[in-house]
Amino acid sequence: MQSVKCVTAVRPELARVAPYEPGESLDAFSARVGVPVERLIKLNSNESPYGPSPRVLEALGSYTRYNYYPDPAAPALRNALARYTGVPAEHIFVSNGSNELIQLLWQVFLGVGDSVLLCPPTFSLYATATTICGGTLVTVPRRVDSSVDPEAVRAALRPDTRIIILCSPNNPTGNPMPPADIEALLDTGRIVVVDEAYIEFTDDAEGLSAARLVPRYENLVVLRTFSKWAGLAGLRLGYGLFPTWIIPHLRKLQLPFEVNVAAHIAALETLADLEQIRQKIALIIAERAHVYDLLAAQPFLRVLPSQANFLLAYLADERLQVSDVRAAVEAEGILLRYFRSPDLARAFRVSVGAPSDTAALARALANVRLA
Ligand code: PMP
Repeated sequence: MQSVKCVTAVRPELARVAPYEPGESLDAFSARVGVPVERLIKLNSNESPYGPSPRVLEALGSYTRYNYYPDPAAPALRNALARYTGVPAEHIFVSNGSNELIQLLWQVFLGVGDSVLLCPPTFSLYATATTICGGTLVTVPRRVDSSVDPEAVRAALRPDTRIIILCSPNNPTGNPMPPADIEALLDTGRIVVVDEAYIEFTDDAEGLSAARLVPRYENLVVLRTFSKWAGLAGLRLGYGLFPTWIIPHLRKLQLPFEVNVAAHIAALETLADLEQIRQKIALIIAERAHVYDLLAAQPFLRVLPSQANFLLAYLADERLQVSDVRAAVEAEGILLRYFRSPDLARAFRVSVGAPSDTAALARALANVRLA
């Protein structure tokens, strides 16, 4: 290496950025615990155990025009999403995963010194995106039953609060937020973002979704993704339902061609095969009850009810540490999600997998021992 000293420093704000920590990858986990990848059970990132619709795989394999860029206006996909959501296409914007929409929205609205209000425990990327923009966090902890207290949110607003972010169902607690409580926050005039990454797993997706409210409000945004219910996490497709005035700003900030051709094809085929996907969602919902029962039957755990494709469990026995559970499940090749934040230090999250995954989890939990 040459001995030239780099005089360009990184932006000082980066020192304050808390990096997002994704669930461990299969390869990294396999190398760490010494179990071959084929034998691992990945229950740490809320992915679908069933994968995409067979139509998706077929269409991706037979498409031959990958040498051309996608159409960033995505008219076919936006029209199909309009039919799926019941919200007109002019409100719809597609993205490279819903993560990208969080980043874009934060860039549109958040300047240095502005704040974002969130209700922990919740998805940690909202905090990361805020610090990247040089913003600060206003936190309104959830009630004991994990619900959001709309009055406490209103009371905590500061003049510099630009965005209220709500996650429904919430990651990691699994509870949805009633649309009436969301509506009660819209007259604050702040941008209210409702992250519905898991809405398809609820008992009443249509009734619980804030989607139908979007065309009526200038400040309501709903974020969705194909990562979970459609089994397409690896292809990265998200979309948002926005007031029309926000969309030109997103267009300016999004780099060209962020949603690739494969993601376009996969989403269109998914939306043309909803019956098949709904059966898989029903399997996951049924399995969620089994995983719940399994966790609830462990005397050392307290599990929260969930309407998402994951469950959150807290250790209820003071003598036990998360590392004790972790040692037992990792010996069976199972990855769960663990957390660094103090409010979740004695909790772990389990994605709902296939019945055989639940059986493996049951075997592993039977081996939890005090250190
Ligand atoms: N929102 C929530 C609440 C999530 O849990 C996730 C995935 N962990 C995302 C958004 C991002 O999903 P994607 O970028 O895959 O669409």
